[in-house]
Amino acid sequence: MTDWHWLFGDQLGPHFLAPGDGGPARDAGVVMIEARSVFRRRRFHRAKAHLVLSAMRHRAAELGDRVRYVRAETYREGLRKAIGDAPVTVHHPTSRAALRLVGSLDQARMLPARGFLLPQEAFRAWAGEHDGGRLRQEDFYHWVRREFDLLMDGDSPAGGRWNHDHANREPPPKGAGTLGAPKPYRPREDHIDDEVRADLDQWQEEGIRFVGRDGPRRFPASRREALSALRRFTEHRLAGFGPHEDAMLADDPVMSHSLLSSSLNLGLLDPAECVAAAEDAWRAGHAPVHSVEGFVRQIAGWREYVWQLYWYFGEDYRRNNALRHHAPLPEWFLELDADAVSARCLATVLAQVRDTGWTHHIPRLMLLGSFALQRGWDPREVTDWFHRCFVDGYDWVMLPNVTGMSQYADGGRMTTKPYTSGGAYIHRMSDLCDGCVYRPGDRTGERACPFTTGYWSFVHRHRALLSGNMRTSRAVQGLDRLGDLEEVLRTERGRGEGPP
Ligand code: FAD
Repeated sequence: MTDWHWLFGDQLGPHFLAPGDGGPARDAGVVMIEARSVFRRRRFHRAKAHLVLSAMRHRAAELGDRVRYVRAETYREGLRKAIGDAPVTVHHPTSRAALRLVGSLDQARMLPARGFLLPQEAFRAWAGEHDGGRLRQEDFYHWVRREFDLLMDGDSPAGGRWNHDHANREPPPKGAGTLGAPKPYRPREDHIDDEVRADLDQWQEEGIRFVGRDGPRRFPASRREALSALRRFTEHRLAGFGPHEDAMLADDPVMSHSLLSSSLNLGLLDPAECVAAAEDAWRAGHAPVHSVEGFVRQIAGWREYVWQLYWYFGEDYRRNNALRHHAPLPEWFLELDADAVSARCLATVLAQVRDTGWTHHIPRLMLLGSFALQRGWDPREVTDWFHRCFVDGYDWVMLPNVTGMSQYADGGRMTTKPYTSGGAYIHRMSDLCDGCVYRPGDRTGERACPFTTGYWSFVHRHRALLSGNMRTSRAVQGLDRLGDLEEVLRTERGRGEGPP
């Protein structure tokens, strides 16, 4: 009798089929299911739908006769079609909904999660020791570095310090327009992409709706492509990763970012190999320690932390709404209608999302998320929007990042303060205010920057909460010093729901 192993669409790398140590049986037959209901439930970015389908089909092509690849309406139906009620193993999936489904199938036996550094039990034990006060990402990150002997010199952090943020928070070079970093890897489409595009056209004709533009595919869809992207990054771009990590340039959206998130989240790359490659580059003298630390922090610190918190915070986390924000998302935002927006920063990043399904972490946090937070949009809707519109968006990564970090809907379990700012921050960290119809320093009048009026309105609305937090009480003091608050609030109200 054949052993069967089921791969979800984000379990596509070879490490999900490696036998031993909680893996599937050697030479198990593989089941993959393309479930169309996933695309009916949510209105995804078309480039994201394309990437996921292309990656699944590339994996199936690699596996050849070993795989039963089934197209079905639901996973349950697909599994029946593929193997009837034969027993099947499957690695722990990445969402609660998929976990419930696997748990409800008598024929399925779940294996431990792969694609992350730590087992959930290890995190729970660590959190049990640290959750008395507050879980801190920085403490978690040090622990992971020690556990995995990652970027360490004996007991000490390599380069003499844990944190190189002081070297990694520089504004962009003035007047340059681009960072001048070596170009990132971009894949070339093949016949599988042609088929996917034709299928998506057909689905659209049948009524499935998408947002955004699709094409050409910009992110790896196979292990081979993902390895090329990793190699290109560590050999040519990692050295410049750190210093301008938090900066934004209108004509250089990628700067030195790795563009590896979708490959990691599809399971095409394993985080351990990414951080090992970065460390090797440092040890070989190809990249300075502050850049390598910045990158390792993103993967071994943030990515891993977010994954663990998704499970640790529990099912109800998604229903948090500590700031009681209930406003619906406006149509222009939902439709990614960048052309309707005059504020240059928001128009630029919304166009990036519309055209590519990607922007780096600061536009996500300090432009898109911050704008939503300032306007009091419903955090569940904002989370859903990010999930649908980004090529790397999955339930596990969206909930802590958007509900927690970006919308502060958890009241501070994930971060110590809400992340939002006025136009001055955007002006300092980008060239996006150059030539804008609004002025970052203006808080009243026609040219008042929407981020500046939005910021003061937010601080005003949540004055009580913010004044009780050491990290934000100065913002309230600043508010009290404004002689024109009433007019600022009037300016903000006068703008209404329309695009800024
Ligand atoms: P780099 O800047 O090169 O970073 C390297 C890697 O670190 C990334 O590829 C990613 O795998 C990892 N990483 C860094 N920060 C995070 C984080 N906070 N959470 C998870 N992984 C992280 N990342 C996603 O993968 N999917 C998302 O849906 C997602 N949504 C986000 C929403 C908001 C509001 C914010 C503030 C951040 C979000 N992030 C998300 C994190 C981060 O913005 C992206 O991982 C990153 O921009 C992807 O580009 P990159 O691969 O070039 O990243």
